[in-house]
Amino acid sequence: MAHDGVPTAAGDGRVPAGGLGREVWPANVAYGGIGAAQSDAAVAVQRRPDGGRTVIALDALARLRERFPEAELQPRRRVLAPPPVNAHTHLDLSDMPFTPGRYEDFVRAVIAHGRAGRRGLAAAERGLALVRASGVRAVGDVVTDEAVMARLLAEPDLEGVAFWEVIGPDPVEAERLLGETRERLQRFLAWQRPGGMRVGLAPHAPHTVSAPLLRGLAGLAREGRLPLQLHVAESAGETELHRSGSGPLRRALGAWLPDWRPSGASPVRYLADLGVLAAQPSLVHMVEVDEDDVRLVARAGCVVVHCPRSNGALGSQVFPWALYARHGVSVALGTDSLGSSPDVSVVREWEAARALHGAAASPAQLVWSAVKGGARALGLRPPTVRRGDPFGLLLGWSEPVH
Ligand code: ZN
Repeated sequence: MAHDGVPTAAGDGRVPAGGLGREVWPANVAYGGIGAAQSDAAVAVQRRPDGGRTVIALDALARLRERFPEAELQPRRRVLAPPPVNAHTHLDLSDMPFTPGRYEDFVRAVIAHGRAGRRGLAAAERGLALVRASGVRAVGDVVTDEAVMARLLAEPDLEGVAFWEVIGPDPVEAERLLGETRERLQRFLAWQRPGGMRVGLAPHAPHTVSAPLLRGLAGLAREGRLPLQLHVAESAGETELHRSGSGPLRRALGAWLPDWRPSGASPVRYLADLGVLAAQPSLVHMVEVDEDDVRLVARAGCVVVHCPRSNGALGSQVFPWALYARHGVSVALGTDSLGSSPDVSVVREWEAARALHGAAASPAQLVWSAVKGGARALGLRPPTVRRGDPFGLLLGWSEPVH
């Protein structure tokens, strides 16, 4: 019996036992990068004479058992899918100790860590090694050092975006910082290589970048068709700062935001009004949101990056998964930095999201987020595994299967 036009070594399907036979690999979730990820599914493969395996179908386990009754049933995996994408991290903070606590205290700790000269290439190198060891092949990294930018853009076998971070809360500085950023981008773009990471822009957050600078950076991103990423709506203090100009974040950053004038709106509405959402940034955290915010994000077509462990460590609200799902917003997963996350493993982030959302988010939806949501956040073509492709393109998350 021939199967779906896939050539088999035995030609007519009379496969010698233990030789070039077929196998069915069941998984709690299987995903080939096309459509939705499937629960209680499996991948049917054909063993090749060279010892490799070729995918012949990905479908519900019961259906594959029926179609391929002679296939050897392999041990069940939790997930069979392409490698997940880490859509948000800060590799140059890889020497920062894990610092759970209040968001405002964490911000102070990050600033102190940077001032102590502990961000930079050496830390990013360590972070990069950890990311590679986690099985990730695509990453969205926020970069604050030119040497790190050069290093990431030269990295072989790693895709994604190196987002140059811009901070500048004083509107008086906007013009100068915009000019500086434009100049830097010219340099960075010349370092890009086909197949490698791309250059992007990361205005840090709606309260650490002045309104004229936010507008200017969004304009630069649109002009140059560069990916854009911002931290938004991460803490209750951020919402209060934007709505009333007071609260714990104002107290923490007071000296740094002398001329802060609140818009009176939510951070998301503020970004929409400035025209920033129109540049389709990926929006990181997004836990302090209401339905109006989510509607704005859905209308703009922005991808939201969910970092559940970082949010948990910094006492942020629970990410409103069901609200985003109801509005059809694509959600990606990111680990954030080692300062607020115990490691850079997206599989562990996926596990944390499962535990956090329980029945509200299925493991299959979360696999979709970790793979395709991440690819969308970074403007990458999502990996796909179809009939005829090597089985090795799919990974058994947390454990090698090949
Ligand atoms: Zn971050």
